[in-house]
Amino acid sequence: MTTTAVSPVLLLTAVVRRVERLSPSFVRIRFGGRGFEHLGPEGPTLDQRVKLLIPPAGRPVPTARIDYEGWYAAWLALPEPERGHLRTYTARAVEGEDQQRQLVVDFVLHGAPGAGFGGHGPAGPAGTWAAAAAVGDEVGLVAPRRGHEDDFGGIEFAPGADQRLVLVADETALPALASIVESLPPDSRGVAVVEVPDAADFLDVRFPAGMERHWIARRARPRGEQTLVRLRECLHLGPHGRPARDLPSLGPAADRDEDVWETPVHSSSGDDLVAVGELQARSGAGDTYAWVAGDSDTVKACRRLLVGEGGLSRSNVAFMGYWKHGRAS
Ligand SMILES: Cc1cc2nc3c(=O)[nH]c(=O)nc-3n(C[C@H](O)[C@H](O)[C@H](O)COP(=O)(O)OP(=O)(O)OC[C@H]3O[C@@H](n4cnc5c(N)ncnc54)[C@H](O)[C@@H]3O)c2cc1C
Repeated sequence: MTTTAVSPVLLLTAVVRRVERLSPSFVRIRFGGRGFEHLGPEGPTLDQRVKLLIPPAGRPVPTARIDYEGWYAAWLALPEPERGHLRTYTARAVEGEDQQRQLVVDFVLHGAPGAGFGGHGPAGPAGTWAAAAAVGDEVGLVAPRRGHEDDFGGIEFAPGADQRLVLVADETALPALASIVESLPPDSRGVAVVEVPDAADFLDVRFPAGMERHWIARRARPRGEQTLVRLRECLHLGPHGRPARDLPSLGPAADRDEDVWETPVHSSSGDDLVAVGELQARSGAGDTYAWVAGDSDTVKACRRLLVGEGGLSRSNVAFMGYWKHGRAS
């Protein structure tokens, strides 16, 4: 008997089924459509990332013209005016069965008039699209095929058993943090620090009882400033006052690292984390797992604070720059 290998990649045209304004800075969009019965992941979405292909204004989504095998190269090969923009988002939830199966995505309305605290940052194609989205609109979707999610990848949250959790997010990582905490066992312990543009953006998230939660409204203060202060307090790291750039360096490669994507198995700085982890494991500090995501500069500063000053092992962390100030994704 011959078996045909099934691709873990699902490439779909996603149709907007419902648009819900959650708060000044967030809009929740539910997507469905043909083929959604195959949408993964099967289990908790955690921080599952997916790719959205935003079509050029007034043009159709080019999904049908892209072969899912080698989809990225195929997309790049399209003529530029037809290509649109590829962006990364989080599956806040995957709900329903069969033809009713839907993907839920919470979009930050950065740059949109009326967004939290007067709009924040310049607009980009995805944020602009989400701000105007209506039922029936379409985007392309690259997501895991149900039952093949391990081969697709895209979930970074992977703590060990019984580890204390330190979770840090800005508004772009709040959907992932929310999805993570809502699937944790009820006896989970730790701390979550979430910085959003405004107090009106403190969304309804179900945390386990044993998790301290710290919501921060940024308002007019610099991005990440209050997150670092609160983290320092939560981890009992002594009085603050040092600017982020003066926190202990993790070395020149980590300092230069613009993308900031570091997990136990990968470092965008190129540091050998296996070696670093082994060294640190010998010095203890293994009972805490940190998951930190948001704008790259804040994530980098958190890494200095948690690893450089707090002594957290780099084999027990996921530090992820979800976007960078002044740079389109
Ligand atoms: C794994 C992963 C998961 C993500 N999940 C989500 C999610 O669930 N929801 C979500 O909203 N975002 C999420 N993001 C972030 C999202 O991909 C970026 O915000 C992306 O830049 C938005 O695309 P855009 O076309 O709107 O802006 P771009 O064209 O990429 O950027 C245009 C300009 O806007 C700036 N910018 C981008 N994002 C922001 C922002 N949030 N605030 C202020 N300025 C900004 C850029 O620096 C640039 O100057 C995720 C990113 C990653 C890597």
